[in-house]
Amino acid sequence: MKIKVGINGYGTIGKRIADAVIKQPDMELVGVSKLNADYEAVTAVKKGIKLFVDENSIEKFKNAGIDFSGTKLEMIKEAQVIIDATPDGVGAKNKALYISENKPAIFQGGEEPDVADVSFSALCNYDEANGKKYVRVVSCNTTGMLRIVCALKKNFKIKKVRVVLIRRAADPREVKKGPINSIVLNPVQLPSHHADDAKTVLRDLDIFTMAYVVPTTLMHVHAMSVQVEGNPSKEEVIKTLESSRRILGISRGSGIGSTAEIIETARDIGRVRYDLPEVAFFEDSVHSSNGEIFLTYAVHQESIVVPENVDAVRAMFKLKEKEESISLTDSTLGLLRGRLI
Ligand code: NAD
Repeated sequence: MKIKVGINGYGTIGKRIADAVIKQPDMELVGVSKLNADYEAVTAVKKGIKLFVDENSIEKFKNAGIDFSGTKLEMIKEAQVIIDATPDGVGAKNKALYISENKPAIFQGGEEPDVADVSFSALCNYDEANGKKYVRVVSCNTTGMLRIVCALKKNFKIKKVRVVLIRRAADPREVKKGPINSIVLNPVQLPSHHADDAKTVLRDLDIFTMAYVVPTTLMHVHAMSVQVEGNPSKEEVIKTLESSRRILGISRGSGIGSTAEIIETARDIGRVRYDLPEVAFFEDSVHSSNGEIFLTYAVHQESIVVPENVDAVRAMFKLKEKEESISLTDSTLGLLRGRLI
């Protein structure tokens, strides 16, 4: 049986999830729904993706000469699950429609946690989404933090986690966002919301976060410190992270020490849109002494949540067990294991 998936919102995240769903042997993409008759709508049609349009935008699409297959409501009726990838806060407004059509839905991290029955991060709490009707995939930053924490949790008993998040200001396609010449405290008053967001998945985690926005579009960078019981060696920490799914080491000999070079590597290895859904940590940044681990890793915000959305569908419909789903998602999306380079 193939689960029919409809995607509402075809921007940075929606377009990537659409491509990923097409690659899944147990899913069928009904189509994507768009509000704006823009270049991304034209590209979707050129790629053979069925385009459904918001009921209030029909004239706009007709005037722009963009072919479409039906309305958003028609897509929702045909799909068995909706992945909502609309901008922050819009997903919560759309929920009434999903409820009235009795449709399960997956929301993104820009929504408040109470939009869903459970917040989701595949490595951490896959099983909690089993049979749930509304699931929220946590944000790009939270997904990155949780991947590292849950990988470490497999081998070490974690006492507390402290993270400084250096956030990209905008995605590459966003022409009107900033800052272009400042470092912005995000927020000024601590902690940042990321700690609470992580706790929607790991409720007992002792975590404190501080975030700053910087003028770059490529990736986020997190500087993390983790206190654990015992005193693991640097090598043990690296081995633990590199044996985890969706986390890649950047080797000491590679000479890479920046997000620009990570993205260039993603380009060089032929990643579509230079996407890197895996978290990339710098092996040389790992320091471990007296039960305290320090490390720096980078998060490709545009693609990190894509595999999580695919797994969320399988968890909701109980299509596969956790490891089987993660493994299938990773192989169909061509994710790597161990080291990026
Ligand atoms: P986006 O602005 O790139 O795309 C949103 C899409 O939804 C656009 O196609 C837009 O036209 C459409 N849209 C706007 N209003 C709509 C409406 N009322 N109804 C239907 N469609 C509408 O946004 P994004 O960056 O893809 O973010 C989507 C969600 O994913 C947000 O919750 C965001 O927080 C989350 N997220 C974003 C990133 C990221 O780095 N961009 C990473 C992780 C999670």
